[in-house]
Amino acid sequence: MKQSTISVHAGTKPSVKVEGINTPIYYSSSYEVDLGASLDLPYPRRCNTPNQIAVSAKIAKLENAKFAFVTGSGMAAISTSLISNLERGDHILIQKEIYGGTYNFIINELEKMGIEYSFFSCQDLTVINSLIKSNSKIIYCETPSNPLLRVVDLEEIVKIAHKFGLLSVIDNTFASPINQNPLDWGFDIVVHSGSKFLSGHSDILCGAIAMNSSSLQKKTLKHLSNWGPVLDAQACYLLERSLKTLALRVERQSQSALAIAEHLLKHPAVKKVNYPGLKYSEDYPIASKQMSGFGAVLSFEIDGDLEASKKFINRLEIIQSALSLGGVESLVSIPRMTSHSMLSAETREEAGIKDSLIRLSVGIEDLEDLIRDLNNALV
Ligand SMILES: *Cc1c(COP(=O)(O)O)cnc(C)c1O
Repeated sequence: MKQSTISVHAGTKPSVKVEGINTPIYYSSSYEVDLGASLDLPYPRRCNTPNQIAVSAKIAKLENAKFAFVTGSGMAAISTSLISNLERGDHILIQKEIYGGTYNFIINELEKMGIEYSFFSCQDLTVINSLIKSNSKIIYCETPSNPLLRVVDLEEIVKIAHKFGLLSVIDNTFASPINQNPLDWGFDIVVHSGSKFLSGHSDILCGAIAMNSSSLQKKTLKHLSNWGPVLDAQACYLLERSLKTLALRVERQSQSALAIAEHLLKHPAVKKVNYPGLKYSEDYPIASKQMSGFGAVLSFEIDGDLEASKKFINRLEIIQSALSLGGVESLVSIPRMTSHSMLSAETREEAGIKDSLIRLSVGIEDLEDLIRDLNNALV
């Protein structure tokens, strides 16, 4: 062999069986064809390469699902779960209190595909009865919601779905599979932005879809293969590595979030605390029925205006001001200026997003350090 051939082929042994206890990064987009074997050849867009299989199996187990797929972002998982199950002329019911990117996807993309939608509020599920149409196909929800941490009764949504023959889809990002497993309540599809708790280190963008039905599995795989929003080996590797500490991280983060919520509730400079784990929260009964921990995200209103919110954030030393959530580091944001900045003042008012509302994603730092940081900033 000449140098050019040697440089491509020598040493590379794609099928060596080394039994490391860790999945190595398997960077190959092309696989040798065994002419005698089945045609289900590994190819990343078909979600069947070693790192994709390993991490998907882990996520499926975490959600008590038979099947799972990993995607290039949370939005890829969300759009896949919807488009792969909708056709022109269909109608979908969507909770109003959802992630901003999902809201944008609904209002910007569905209409041109000929898909109708109606919004309902998690605060009144009875209105759903009047929104149902003969072409309704999906009911979609997200709980706890962003940034007010409102909780939707999973049992009720599934009841409605069964009554009207709808497919039930839920964004389980905020709870994570450690605190909530919607498939156990009868949901058909669970989606995640893996960029948050699943990966947990604020480094990669990814998503996940999990389900029990093999017909849904087939539809999802077909969609992923045709549209291509899959996850590459490196990101799969990092996600798999992160998932090994998911329970440790989320349990610690949820415990700290509860302690911080209870502390803030007693603080004279705080007007209101939104956290479903607080006994005074109107969502506590439902949250304690369906969640094993209440999550790492909370929000609170401080006494003052937008300037006061900015000053508060500037006084924090450990907790950083940044977008996103779910990582090992504690992060704060002012929803008025970030996730909900595009809304008009009226819509924000209606949604209960005040200028003085602060969202906090609690990390894994020492609880006393975090409380001291908050106290110092809450003057
Ligand atoms: C971040 C987020 C998404 C979108 O995920 P990306 O990974 O950014 O595409 C969807 N839903 C929720 C609840 C989120 O927090």
